Amino acid sequence: MNVLVINCGSSSLKYQLIDSESEEVLAKGLCERIGIDGRLTYQKAGLDKEITDAAMPTHKEAIQMVLDALVNEKTGAIKSLSEINAVGHRVVHGGEKFASSVVITEDVIKTVEECNDLAPLHNPANIIGIRACQALMPNVPMVGVFDTAFHQTMPAKAYLYGLPYEYYDKYKVRRYGFHGTSHDFVSKATAEYLGIDYNNSKIIVAHLGNGASISAVLNGKCVDTSMGLTPLEGLVMGTRCGDIDPSIMEFIAKKENLDIDGVMEVLNKKSGVFGMSGVSSDFRDLTAAREDGNEKAAMAIDVFCYRVAKYIGSYVAAMNGVDAIAFTAGIGENTQHIRENVLSYLGYLGINLDKEVNDSARGVEATISTPDSKVKVVVIPTNEELAICRETVRLV
Ligand code: ADP
Repeated sequence: MNVLVINCGSSSLKYQLIDSESEEVLAKGLCERIGIDGRLTYQKAGLDKEITDAAMPTHKEAIQMVLDALVNEKTGAIKSLSEINAVGHRVVHGGEKFASSVVITEDVIKTVEECNDLAPLHNPANIIGIRACQALMPNVPMVGVFDTAFHQTMPAKAYLYGLPYEYYDKYKVRRYGFHGTSHDFVSKATAEYLGIDYNNSKIIVAHLGNGASISAVLNGKCVDTSMGLTPLEGLVMGTRCGDIDPSIMEFIAKKENLDIDGVMEVLNKKSGVFGMSGVSSDFRDLTAAREDGNEKAAMAIDVFCYRVAKYIGSYVAAMNGVDAIAFTAGIGENTQHIRENVLSYLGYLGINLDKEVNDSARGVEATISTPDSKVKVVVIPTNEELAICRETVRLV
C-alpha cells in the first residue's frame, strides 16, 4: 500500500509518499513559509527537484498543493488520490496518554490537544496537519506516531525530577524524551544489523543532529533518555544549551535585564555550539572553522563530544553494561571526527575504534569498532519517515 507520511511544523510541512511493500520513496518534498507566502519542493523518485512558489495561506492549501503535485500528469508519482491508502502523521508530544502509535479518531485529536501546553510550538501544528488531511482525504485512514511514545517505558526513577511531587501530580512535569521514533527504529536496526537478540540486549543510541538526544534501550525497552519535559534538556545541541544549572536563568535574567521569554529564547535559539562558537550551529561550518584555527569552534566541538561521552557513561551505569552503541542522525551518521572524539573517552569499556572504517563511514550502516572490541559501535542511518510508514501499515 502507499502511505503518505506528514511531518507538520508551524510554518512548514515535510512529506514522503512511500510504497510500504518495497519501502521505496515514490516522491518527497517540503512546503515552506506557510502563512507567509509559500514554497513547494517536490521530487519524484529518479527526477530532479521542482520548486514552485505559490500562496499557502494555511496548511490546507499546502497539503492541497502536495496532493496536486503527487497526481500531476507529467511528474506525479500516482495517477489518482485513491492510490493513497493511508496517512501517517508525526505528532511531537503524546504526554503520558500515548505509549504507542494510534489510529486517529476525534477522541485521539482531543487527547493530543490536551498535551498542547507541553509542546505549544509543535502539537497545534501537528493537529492542523491532521485536520487539513481529513478535510482533503476524508475516507483515508490516518495514524498518529508520537515522538514521546517509545520513551513511555522509562521507570519513575528515570522520569521523575527532584521537584515537589505535586508538580508531577498536577501538571505532569516529568521527563518525556523526544526523537522516540528514531531511537526505536535505530535500536531495532542495530540489533538486526549485529544479529543480536533485541529482547535481550543493552543498546545506547546517540541521535546527533541539530537537535540531539541519547537513549538507553534495555531488552528492547527505553529505560532512560536525555531530553526531558521539553527538547531543551540533555546534550549540547546546535542552538540549545542542554543541561545547565537552573540558577543560571535567574542570574542571566538579572544581568541582561531579560524576562522569562527572553531567557528561554537565549537557551533555545542562541546557545549550544552556535552560542559557544559564535560561528554556526552546523557541524560542517564548525569543522571548517576549527581547521582554520578558530579556537572557539574547536572548544564548542569538544564540549559537545564530552557531554555525549558523559551521557554514554551514565547509561552504561543505568543498564549495568552495554552491548552496542549506535551513532545516528546528521552528525552521528556523517561526522567521523565527532565519533572518534566521543569514543576516545570510552576506552575503559574495552572499545577499540576501527579508524579506517570510521573515517569512511558516511550515511551507511557500518561497524566502526574492531572485531575484538568488547562493545560493538555502529553507524545506523535513521529513517523516521519509514518508521512512521511501518507503524501506519501495522495499525491500518
Ligand atoms: P535535524 O533533523 O535535527 O535538523 P540533522 O539530523 O539533519 O538535524 O543534522 C544536522 C547536523 O548534521 C548539522 O550539524 C550538519 O552539519 C550535520 N550533517 C548533516 N548532513 C551532513 C553531511 N552529509 N555531512 C556532514 N555533516 C552533516
